[in-house]
Amino acid sequence: MSELVKVENLVKWFPLRRGLFSSLFRREELFVRAVDGISFNIKEGEIFGLAGESGCGKTTTARLVLRLIEPTDGKIYFKGIDILSIDKKEMRKLRKEMQIIFQDPYESLNPRMFICDIIKEPLKLQKIGNSEEERLEMVYEMLEKVGLTPPEEFLYRYPHELSGGQRQRVAIARALILRPKLVVADEPVSMLDVSIRAGILDLMLDLKEELNLSYLYITHDLATAKYVCDRLAIMYLGKIVEQGDTLKIIDEPMHPYAKALIDAIPVPNPRVKIRKIPIKGEVPTPIHIPPGCRFHPRCPYAKDICKKEEPPLVKVNKDRFVMCHLYS
Ligand code: SF4
Repeated sequence: MSELVKVENLVKWFPLRRGLFSSLFRREELFVRAVDGISFNIKEGEIFGLAGESGCGKTTTARLVLRLIEPTDGKIYFKGIDILSIDKKEMRKLRKEMQIIFQDPYESLNPRMFICDIIKEPLKLQKIGNSEEERLEMVYEMLEKVGLTPPEEFLYRYPHELSGGQRQRVAIARALILRPKLVVADEPVSMLDVSIRAGILDLMLDLKEELNLSYLYITHDLATAKYVCDRLAIMYLGKIVEQGDTLKIIDEPMHPYAKALIDAIPVPNPRVKIRKIPIKGEVPTPIHIPPGCRFHPRCPYAKDICKKEEPPLVKVNKDRFVMCHLYS
């Protein structure tokens, strides 16, 4: 599989707005270190997952990859093109091949637009199709692909007339109407009822095969990541702490934080004994990141070196990387 996306040492720090008092008396500039130097790649036809708790930087990473926000540092390549070096016009053209499905289908669709106009809008913006009829034909075909059939029943309805699952199907149709190569799916099922999540994930998997897509799948739910992702990266406070084959990480996590996350996946069998890694406290603020290993205040295996030196992300075996002194 050839490489579609390559991210190198990506950093995004947001400067913290200060009040007048702290501006006058405090010299040190403060930053929210949302993404703090991460690297990964996504191969063609692959589903690459980014998982972690809220605030770990995964959604910021998704927005950076699409260049919806500018990074503080680092490189992003899409099909070998350095997307941070191209101008807005070239970026708009390239964006045709990079689309996003947002988390909340209740917020991401314009409530005043018909479903056909919502799906047609990207075609108009990218000047695709020679006439309204041709564009409507494309919308019709896409509604069929996402399972909203018969399409004529959905074309002239408003988002509020649809269920959550149907709305997310509309959001998927809007993302795919331009026939992108990369789709960033930002927690695409977390707002949906559990009963319809599997249907949406199956649809995404079918469309990936049919349209030869690659996904960057953002989630805090390792159970869905296990279901859809080929490779997985676990993020903690802006860093990737473990990366590798999804099933290997879920079955045999190495980093203590990955172990704790995986132990938290509910097992639907009361007889299964659940092992629990006793992690302490809450995630620290990304403004004051602990020195050394950023996980050390919560880690039950922390040693002296963990408080002083940040561990490197080391390759422990083929395609498996871990950032922990226990392995370096
Ligand atoms: Fe725990 Fe130390 Fe590994 Fe960090 S480096 S995860 S503190 S053992």
